[in-house]
Amino acid sequence: MTKQAEQILQTYFGYQTFRAGQKQTIDHISERHNTLAVMPTGGGKSLCYQIPGMALDGTAIIISPLISLMKDQVDALQALGIPATYINSSLTPGEQQTRLNDIKSGKYKFVYAAPERFESSSFMSVMKRIPISLIAFDEAHCISQWGHDFRPSYRSIIPNLSQLPDIPVTVALTATATTDVISDIQGLLDIQNDHIVKTGFERANLSFHVVKGKDKPTYIRSFMAEHRDESGIIYTATRKQADALCEQLRKRGFSAAKYHAGLSENERKEAQTAFIHDEKTVMVATNAFGMGIDKSNVRFIIHYAMPMSIESYYQEAGRAGRDGEHSDCILLFSPQDVQLQKFLIEQSFMDEGSKQNEYRKLQAMMNYCHTHGCLTSSILAYFNDKEAASKSSCGHCSNCLNRQNRVDITEEAQMILSCVKRMDERFGVSMTAKVLKGSKSSRIQQFGLHRLSTYGLLSAYTEKEITERIQFLVAEKWLATADGKFPTLKLNQNAADVLKGKETVWMYTTPIPASEPEDYQKELFESLRELRKRMADEQAVPPYVLFSDATLKELSR
Ligand code: ADP
Ligand code: MG
Repeated sequence: MTKQAEQILQTYFGYQTFRAGQKQTIDHISERHNTLAVMPTGGGKSLCYQIPGMALDGTAIIISPLISLMKDQVDALQALGIPATYINSSLTPGEQQTRLNDIKSGKYKFVYAAPERFESSSFMSVMKRIPISLIAFDEAHCISQWGHDFRPSYRSIIPNLSQLPDIPVTVALTATATTDVISDIQGLLDIQNDHIVKTGFERANLSFHVVKGKDKPTYIRSFMAEHRDESGIIYTATRKQADALCEQLRKRGFSAAKYHAGLSENERKEAQTAFIHDEKTVMVATNAFGMGIDKSNVRFIIHYAMPMSIESYYQEAGRAGRDGEHSDCILLFSPQDVQLQKFLIEQSFMDEGSKQNEYRKLQAMMNYCHTHGCLTSSILAYFNDKEAASKSSCGHCSNCLNRQNRVDITEEAQMILSCVKRMDERFGVSMTAKVLKGSKSSRIQQFGLHRLSTYGLLSAYTEKEITERIQFLVAEKWLATADGKFPTLKLNQNAADVLKGKETVWMYTTPIPASEPEDYQKELFESLRELRKRMADEQAVPPYVLFSDATLKELSR
């Protein structure tokens, strides 16, 4: 089919050549192998099923998690003169019926459907009667409870699909590349190892930065002043933060729109359109914004707070620079962000196992914020992109750019590692910092930790500075953490070499975080209170409390 695929690419889509992974995916599909395509955001996953969908007889059914996403895709296909439609809850029952009739008559090559459709008998009866060319699971990580956006309705499609007489081939597409998620998708959709197409995850035009110890609003204002006409997205952790920041920016004359689940559908639509059409340059939003947004000239993504996982971070940050031009992804870190994420995990309705899993992902995210190694490599290593990660230095992330001043902290590291060992590896970061500081806290006395030989060894440092160093040792894998809300510290094997003086531990000059600005703390506290209240009201659970509304639904069954 290669020749035909190329022809379709050129005549219908107007592109000359395939991008990495596209041809291979299309080949597998045309040979009727169930296929999983793992490619970064903006990598061109849609074409992977759209081209076979055009080439094969029958109708391609695409399962998609978001109404806005379906609409965009269908609009794009229709604009190219390709018969496509969608069917979801945004249509009236009358419209749904009309479309179902048209689908039955074979009018469409592509039908986008929400996962819930497969529970509807009228939809299923049409599906049973038409020739289907392929079934595609877009954003396929939604099928996996290990993914960052699990939707039970995605998973329950599978038994319903088995009622269909003939599905020639199934294709799954995602930008999430963690092994858990991949093997989950593989198992559920019966995909052989040979039919997983995984492209490199590196987005060489993105420069990653972690910024610590800065007053966030001030940082953003000065960044924006330097990038006045550039399009960008600022992700906040809460709706309240989004409101406040957008307001501030507008007051200072910036062209800002906002987007979060607390706004009406109309307000959201307007904001989105204004941003996409460059009428507003920045979008201040919660993570409710962005899935499926195909805006090519986004020059920066700023995270006002640390997200819950590297998967979420890379997906959100990956919305920058789809046109291949240089773009910046900046994460503004403060220790309070960790508290917020822990709170969200605790408050969610996940079972213990899932919570542990979330804590593990959170720890990886924290490690990203604390490492002094290359940020790009650190992300790629997380996604098991070994080849790219082994390059060890991208040369343009904030850590690579900050290589001038190396400090030997081997001695401090030895003190910290031996303190952890002497505490029998039963305590976490904060108690370890307290012991090394020589804190008079009653809990120290209670556990008899003031009698340890490491007590007060680092009394010249502040507790915060000690904490920073411990977290650095965790991020650099000298120390490990157990999973959970209060993870205990353990020594990794290589720590022995540091203790024996066989290894030198280098830290690059990171500015020691200035104490958090007070107004930020206050703001965060209020956001937390607001959240608590909202959860108590049992109204909408915020979208970033992952799995929770899903599990909620299950509970109420
Ligand atoms: P993904 O779903 O992987 O995030 P999309 O399928 O939305 O990415 O594609 C991102 C952009 O890349 C789209 O604007 C698409 O038209 C474009 N694109 C896809 N394939 C090619 C190609 N072979 N050549 C040029 N542009 C492409
Ligand atoms: Mg896509």
